[in-house]
Amino acid sequence: MSAQNAPSEAVLSTIFNSKDLPTLPIIASKLLVLTAQEDTPLTEIATLISQDMGLSTKILRVANSSFYSFPQQIASINQAVSILGLNAVRSLVLSFSFLSLGEKNKKSKFNFEQFWERSLVEAAGTKLILEQIPYADTEEAFTCGLLQNIGQLIFATTLSQEYEQILNSLEAGKQDNNNGQQIDQRQLEQELIGITHTEVGFEVAKMWGLPESLLLPIKFHHQPTSYEGTNEKVTLYIRAAYLAGLLANIFYSETPEVFHKQFRTEAKNLLQLKIRGVNTVLKMIDQTIGQSANFFGIKINEFKSVAEILQEANLRLSLINLSYEEMNRELIKSKMALEKITEELEQKNRLLENLANLDGLTEINNHRYFQIFLDSEINRCIRNERSLGLLLADIDHFKKLNDTYGHQTGDFILKEFSRITKEVIREYDLIARYGGEEFVFVLPETGEEDALAVAEKLRKTVEDYPFDDGNLTYHVTISVGVACAVPSEDEEFNKNDFINNADEALYEAKNNGRNRVVLHHPKKKKKWYNF
Ligand code: GH3
Ligand code: MG
Ligand code: MG
Repeated sequence: MSAQNAPSEAVLSTIFNSKDLPTLPIIASKLLVLTAQEDTPLTEIATLISQDMGLSTKILRVANSSFYSFPQQIASINQAVSILGLNAVRSLVLSFSFLSLGEKNKKSKFNFEQFWERSLVEAAGTKLILEQIPYADTEEAFTCGLLQNIGQLIFATTLSQEYEQILNSLEAGKQDNNNGQQIDQRQLEQELIGITHTEVGFEVAKMWGLPESLLLPIKFHHQPTSYEGTNEKVTLYIRAAYLAGLLANIFYSETPEVFHKQFRTEAKNLLQLKIRGVNTVLKMIDQTIGQSANFFGIKINEFKSVAEILQEANLRLSLINLSYEEMNRELIKSKMALEKITEELEQKNRLLENLANLDGLTEINNHRYFQIFLDSEINRCIRNERSLGLLLADIDHFKKLNDTYGHQTGDFILKEFSRITKEVIREYDLIARYGGEEFVFVLPETGEEDALAVAEKLRKTVEDYPFDDGNLTYHVTISVGVACAVPSEDEEFNKNDFINNADEALYEAKNNGRNRVVLHHPKKKKKWYNF
């Protein structure tokens, strides 16, 4: 293909002479000249960058972000150069410079925003990929990825008409997806313009004075193995940039599954990445893109995760060969399956919620639920000015029963007690296990008289009931403390005081001989200091 040389020379000279050829900001050009000379003192470089306040601020922001995860605060460009290194700082200056190359040619069909977004994906990808390789130098990785397709931008600005034709052909020919859109694109460029974006990018970047580590990936990022040089860093950068291109195609092509597979295979072959490293890249890339955009002050929409993209592609593939009716049937089937799963899930959630509120042994409500219930009942009573009854019942001499007949018998009594007392109370009353052999009953809209009557009925029921476990019959009694109140906001009703009242009454019932009901009466507080 030696005939190519002639047209490519002519095209290059057209491009170089175009008034639309993007130019680097002066500060970036000067920096490239300075860093190309080996003996430039670092302070001189820092002084140059510091002249541009805006740029310096941006650089310090990234330098102090998790982009570098540097433990120490970097306060000046001088520090940035000496701590992060010259290459890293130059790389940041270049990244910001390129990202500021605006869209000069508005007539063009070329979508500049989309170009920079994709470049950002490749930048984040290149860095993330190289970070999976122990000891790899990642200082310039981001910029390398960002710049690899700069040739496309140059085409779009300097040869906008020709390039538009290429973009149109690409759009028309999207059906040939097997080898990926990029290779097709370069063939087209070669045929229609006489030179590819990789060559053009390389030549222009060389003219700009970019270092080898950034220059060669521009040239070789489509054929990573054609680089025959021995520079290890350059080899790594070329391969990572190429892989980042595949990664970007997962997000942008119509066949993400093809590029996903290719990425996995080639990451292993070209960089010897282990499965773990490959998985890390695929798992983190969407977040990494978002973070990078943030660091560089670029607004982008949130990216889907690779897993989600593949899942969607999978679904599309499974529907692709179906007729309309079949597809409909499949969709209905999956919708029904989904509804079934949702219902099962809701049921399980309800069950879990119940379990959280139930006592394991007696299967009545537990202390946690009692507190919730009492809170809401108090609020209701405050709104409606109704009275509320609270009973605290404690089995008499339960310890002795346990000691004499064993714990299992004790458990049996607790379960039977719960079962038979539940029958005594109304549907909207609450029974709960307060703890151990103590039970609590909440009686909404119940005054003293009625509360006492319920308590007495409970006491009598237990006293009369033969607790028969099939082996022996046990007789059990309970003591009950009763408290009643008409909660109101004015007197700042206190829930714990209310429970204490019932507890005090219970204590009195125990002291007065057990197997009895005592109603709590508000007493005058004893003032010991008066005596
Ligand atoms: P009093 O008449 O004064 O209430 O005496 P008592 O023996 O009933 O009260 P005490 O508080 O001294 O003892 C309560 C006993 O209840 C001690 C504890 O081992 C037993 N207990 C607490 N929870 C359970 C349980 O889940 N199962 C069984 N079997 N026993 C329990
Ligand atoms: Mg007891
Ligand atoms: Mg007790």
